[in-house]
Parts: sequence; C-alpha cells; structure tokens
Amino acid sequence: MQDLKEFIRDIPDWPKEGIIFKDITPLLKSRESFARAIDTLAAHFGDENVDLVLGAEARGFIIGGALAYKLGCGFIPARKPGKLPWETTSAEYELEYGTDSLEVHKDSIFPGARVLVVDDVLATGGTASAKAKLVEELGGKVVGIAFLMELTFLAGRDRLAGYDVYSLMSY
Ligand code: AMP
Repeated sequence: MQDLKEFIRDIPDWPKEGIIFKDITPLLKSRESFARAIDTLAAHFGDENVDLVLGAEARGFIIGGALAYKLGCGFIPARKPGKLPWETTSAEYELEYGTDSLEVHKDSIFPGARVLVVDDVLATGGTASAKAKLVEELGGKVVGIAFLMELTFLAGRDRLAGYDVYSLMSY
C-alpha cells in the first residue's frame, strides 16, 4: 500500500518565499488515498458520537464534508467574514502580520453538541484554536481536532493542549 505522504506535493516558496506549501490535490484526486485518509480519520473518532463536523473554507470543506458523511453526522461551514447569509458569531486569529477571522452561523451548533473540528494542515494552530473557540462560544463540546498532516516544527499542538489532536502525517 502506498504511503499517504506520496500523495502530498511540496511546492517551495508558495504562496511566498520561505514557505513550503503542502499541496493535497494529488491525495484528493486519487480515490484510493482520499478514501483511506477519510476512513482513517473516521475510525479514530468513530466512538466519539460526533454530532457535527466543522471545517473552514476551502480545504476544510472538502475533507470535512466527506468526513461528516462517513461519520453519519452534519457539517458546519466556517467562513471568512461576510460570506454567510444568516446571523453569525466570529473568532479572530493571528496571522504573520495582523489578524483575520472566521464566522459560523449562530444557530449552527446546539448546546452540548459534540463537534469534531477538521482541517488539512496543522501549522501554528491559530486557525484551529479559533474554530474551537467558536464551537465553545456556542455551547458545543470539541471532541477532537483532525488534520491530514501536522508541521511539528511549528508546535501547533502546544497551542491546542487539552484537545484530542489527531493527524495522519507528520513533517
Ligand atoms: P495555522 O498556522 O495552523 O493556523 O494554519 C493556517 C492555515 O493555513 C491552515 O488552514 C492550513 O491549512 C494552512 N497552512 C499553513 N501552512 C501551510 C502549508 N505549509 N501548506 C499548506 N497549507 C498550510
């Protein structure tokens, strides 16, 4: 069986110099690796009685939608400001220069909902902790945070201490 890492393409200096971008499109286009990635994430959180998967645009939609279907639960889109049509709540996170924020619909999470947060790459952990904050502000419980991969040298896990952080690949 091919290692999942063989489906990750490194793009040096993109979107800017010094960044090695982890391109997941080869993994997504192969039915074998895409299915294996989703099945493995679903198996890890299968006993958690997940009510909702939360993912942010754009890659979090692809992985989160498939994972929610596999787990038999619902999906919540987290979006950049101004994109969602109904009443929203937002959380800020830090970028290298300045801040950005993510929004979810206020009625997306019911009190006590068991929510799995998902993204493709764990880098500094800033966006994942903003997503966890959104869930908790709306009264949900974060049962785990799932990634295809983590960039261990950025220590994003430290920022997510206390959560069940699970990633399929480490760099
Ligand atoms: P973070 O620093 O953990 O908040 O990551 C910010 C966002 O950028 C996450 O949604 C990641 O998917 C994405 N990201 C960060 N670093 C990389 C990278 N080297 N390759 C691809 N995506 C990345």
